[in-house]
Amino acid sequence: MRSITTFDLQYAHRFYGFRGEAQYLHGHTGYLTIEVEDTVNPGVNMVFPCNEIKKTAWDVLKNFDHAVILREDDPLLPAILDVYAKQGIKDGAPQNQMKGAAFQTELATAYPDCRLVVTKETMTVEGMIKIVYDLLKDQLNIAKLTFTSGVNAACQEYDVSGSMERCPLCGIALDANGVCPKCGYQKPASS
Ligand SMILES: [Zn+2]
Ligand SMILES: [Zn+2]
Repeated sequence: MRSITTFDLQYAHRFYGFRGEAQYLHGHTGYLTIEVEDTVNPGVNMVFPCNEIKKTAWDVLKNFDHAVILREDDPLLPAILDVYAKQGIKDGAPQNQMKGAAFQTELATAYPDCRLVVTKETMTVEGMIKIVYDLLKDQLNIAKLTFTSGVNAACQEYDVSGSMERCPLCGIALDANGVCPKCGYQKPASS
């Protein structure tokens, strides 16, 4: 079965080199849906608690919220950084507090201090799905991602192999020692 969680993200981007309106910098509210698949954990009668999916994913996704997302070769990138530097906000500002943890993958690098994400490919809805899967695939059993932004939408399904060991009391993934990081439940040694 699947547990399904939805997020909304406000961001600005453009399609550099694209022959259409989207070549100009503009903004969106994007809606991301994450479907996590596993057995139903009999202890809590859930696949995975949605608030835990939210917490895990939002740690990373916060980087895309109220951020500018530009491709690495976009000349707007140095121009924006130059303005931020002159203004003294390139390396952070006291009011910039809702920051995610900086990350770097093959597809994207997040600079939370100036609310910027630099991507390898154009950040289309398809591009966003690739980035998100790459960031979260090791933490969640992702079966499907859907991203909608303006009139554009895309989705991708993934094969989920294996099942995560989850706490029978609060439903979240047990650590490598079979201990629940939330409530301290310890999985009994198998006989
Ligand atoms: Zn757009
Ligand atoms: Zn627990």
